Amino acid sequence: MTSLEMKMPALLSQPLKMLIDGEWVSSQSGAHMDVINPSNGLVLVQESLGGAYEVDLAVQAARRAFESGPWSRMRPAERTRLLLKLAEALEQNGDELALLETLNTGKPLKMARAFDISMAAECLRYNAGWATKLSGETRNVSLPGDWHAYTLREPVGVVGLIVPWNVPLAMAVSKISPALAAGCTVLLKPAELTPLTALRLGELIQAIGFPPGVVNIVTGLGHEAGQAIVDHPGVDKISFTGSTSVGKSLLALAAGNLKRVSLELGGKSPVFIFADADLDRAMDAAARGIFGNTGQVCAAGSRLFVHRSVADRVIEGLVQRARSLRVAPGLSPDCEIGPVISARQRERVMGYIDSGRAEGAEVVAGGQTVQGDGFFVQPTVLVNTRPDMKVVREEIFGPVLSTQLFDDDSLEQLAARGNDTHYGLSSSIWTRDLRTAHQMVRRLRAGNVRVNAAAALDFAMPFGGYKQSGWGRENGREGVEAYTELKSVAIDLN
Ligand code: NAD
Repeated sequence: MTSLEMKMPALLSQPLKMLIDGEWVSSQSGAHMDVINPSNGLVLVQESLGGAYEVDLAVQAARRAFESGPWSRMRPAERTRLLLKLAEALEQNGDELALLETLNTGKPLKMARAFDISMAAECLRYNAGWATKLSGETRNVSLPGDWHAYTLREPVGVVGLIVPWNVPLAMAVSKISPALAAGCTVLLKPAELTPLTALRLGELIQAIGFPPGVVNIVTGLGHEAGQAIVDHPGVDKISFTGSTSVGKSLLALAAGNLKRVSLELGGKSPVFIFADADLDRAMDAAARGIFGNTGQVCAAGSRLFVHRSVADRVIEGLVQRARSLRVAPGLSPDCEIGPVISARQRERVMGYIDSGRAEGAEVVAGGQTVQGDGFFVQPTVLVNTRPDMKVVREEIFGPVLSTQLFDDDSLEQLAARGNDTHYGLSSSIWTRDLRTAHQMVRRLRAGNVRVNAAAALDFAMPFGGYKQSGWGRENGREGVEAYTELKSVAIDLN
């Protein structure tokens, strides 16, 4: 799509509303905020800021839709059909959704179309199938007498879904689709910075004919709307993706009614490049892994460990890749790296780079902002980093790679260096030696390990973190079962 063919999406023609019980409403308080295009700092539209009042209305609507049965008692095959229709609608409206995503996040339009929107549609298709496949099982009990004993999988109820701004539509869909497949009704809160595609998704959900109250979308600030969801006694489960600090703070609030809680949190993922690796592939993947989506990826490979014998070549290769990536507004046809999400995030990322310099790291690529109105940061490579530095310990969520060397450390020692973090989301290993690969896989404390690959995201594969990277798993059977309760039934046949 060229800029001449681009039509401003209708969604942006008036202030945004929220979807509650099948109606589009503004916040009762009238509170609102600007939605900003991070590529140029300009206001795109205004969004309504919901709070406890709107959250309560949405929870009541979701409860009615759940209890009275238009969703939880709908035939599973019918739920599958509606979810597949929604996937189709995402594809049909893919150009418009990609444009909205690019305007709101600054990510390259091509990437938004090929990755974010397609991934959301795939996610819906994958989870749609689970509606007809969830099941309990009979159990051979040894109680005295004659018993028929079995388990039932039932939807957990009303769920609050809170998502971040880095992959807005795909994150929203990755929560909505397993929840709906399981028979739950939902209240989605997009990140306040990126409400656009979630609200367009709401329009599509309505147009397809999902019953009112099954999907509610409340926009608003984390400490207001988000907190109200976590606080609400009518919410049975929270599924949250975001920062580890907010994730931890949610736990105390959720304890009120002992809500079920799933958390997908931050990461500081190691990438190991051994001397025998296919270095060109490893360098390409390592660069994509940290600079893709401007480093705003929970599983970004932000700590590189490279064998000393190939370190010069690998670091030089990464420096070249970092320098040659075209940093530009997301709508620019040659954009490879867009801005970070906000001026605040740019300051945060630059603060980390400065702290790295102050602690003795050397910036060998990037390290600067880019002139202009957008929130751009150059892809950055740091060398001479140590495990105690802030840039190595903390999640930056920006295009900043720290590199460390290893010699002929034992795999035990090397894995321990990789595991020296509070996080445990992802890691990747580059080697041609099967033994090295398998031994590292077993030693790494991370929910996702890739060998000779960077991302390899597939909806059949559980995704989630060890340690402070989260609780629970998304995707796969586990991802849908996370939205269910298990009931044991025993019938005395005597
Ligand atoms: P964030 O934690 O600030 O916000 C995430 C969401 O939580 C937003 O919708 C926000 O409004 C809401 N929120 C904030 N404070 C809240 C509160 N007190 N109560 C309830 N809700 C609240 O995170 P962010 O800056 O939007 O996103 C970046 C973070 O998300 C990074 O740490 C990243 O690693 C993480 N992330 C993790 C995954 C994963 O799958 N593990 C995926 C993407 C992003």
